[in-house]
Amino acid sequence: MARPIQAYIDLAALEHNLQVARRATSARLMSVIKADGYGHGLLRVAEALAATDGFALLDIQDAVRLREAGYRQTILLLEGFFNTEDLASVAEYDLACVIHSPWQIAMLDAFSGNRKLDVWLKVNTGMNRLGFTPQQVAQAMEQLQRHRAVRDITLMTHFANADEARGIAEPLALFNDVAASYRVARSLANSAALLRYPAAHGDWVRPGIMLYGATPFAPEKDRGVSAQQLGLRPAMTLSSRIIATQELRAGDEIGYGAQFRAEHSMRIGVVACGYADGYPRHAPNGTPILVDGQRTKTLGRVSMDMLYVDLSNLPQAEVGSRVVLWGESMPIDEVARTAGTVGYELMCALAKRVQVVV
Ligand SMILES: *Cc1c(COP(=O)(O)O)cnc(C)c1O
Repeated sequence: MARPIQAYIDLAALEHNLQVARRATSARLMSVIKADGYGHGLLRVAEALAATDGFALLDIQDAVRLREAGYRQTILLLEGFFNTEDLASVAEYDLACVIHSPWQIAMLDAFSGNRKLDVWLKVNTGMNRLGFTPQQVAQAMEQLQRHRAVRDITLMTHFANADEARGIAEPLALFNDVAASYRVARSLANSAALLRYPAAHGDWVRPGIMLYGATPFAPEKDRGVSAQQLGLRPAMTLSSRIIATQELRAGDEIGYGAQFRAEHSMRIGVVACGYADGYPRHAPNGTPILVDGQRTKTLGRVSMDMLYVDLSNLPQAEVGSRVVLWGESMPIDEVARTAGTVGYELMCALAKRVQVVV
């Protein structure tokens, strides 16, 4: 028998979530599928999202795989090209490139190919990660507008706080001010801005996390909204089974570092899932988990291949009982919050050794 852990990817949920995005905007949809489709599998996700207007990711190899699989939509490289060799592939496969730094314009200048590229000029509106400051945009635009290697230009920015109470007012005003001088397409919104700020939709929205059925609005925040409230369905369900049970007496401890000590006699289960599968090691005692469809909690420290669950109130649970770590009926956002992280990180950390089923 194979080890019972598996990740079920619900293609219908991905399609559904794309429709939720579609209904929320009249802008074109650039589905963000970086990090192997947020851990769901690049080509699998692309197929489910085939009705999208574009795909955004980072790896040129992945972009080429998409083209070779027959996708004709815009494919945007979110960090653009990294070296001169990349540029040849970018041109050959007609990939759109973010231009975020002067060194990339210099590289374009040196590019000798004769095909023209679509570029997305990135404006730094306060996140201070990638992009030209509003003051630098005029010069960069001038260089790109008359560049022999450039076909179409889109102006873009990325928000640092679209999911926070602070919102997007400042960066949106900065961006609009810069963009007012140019008649080019605009792109600003991630999932949070797509769902919350229609004024920032522009011509292209760039949803990521919402497509996978998690919320961009962390539920512990004052403006938190759950995925379910947003009408989103989880695309990934990580499940496994109980492979052993133990009867503890008062005072017994469990796991490495004895992070849990029984106060009275109780029954616990051992689940075939650990941090080498992508479950967060820092998930504390009490992280929510489902056993046989019923909510209970993890106990003790997560080890590489196993973790413990409380079976005190689940007398029917036995070896073989199905466990849902996150996904259907166990929101990944709740697990993430308890573990001090976000759904994004859990999805992306799904380990290669976990069997994927669709
Ligand atoms: C990852 C990313 C997105 C998508 O963000 P979500 O919060 O997952 O919707 C959009 N734009 C850029 C530039 C990104 O890097």
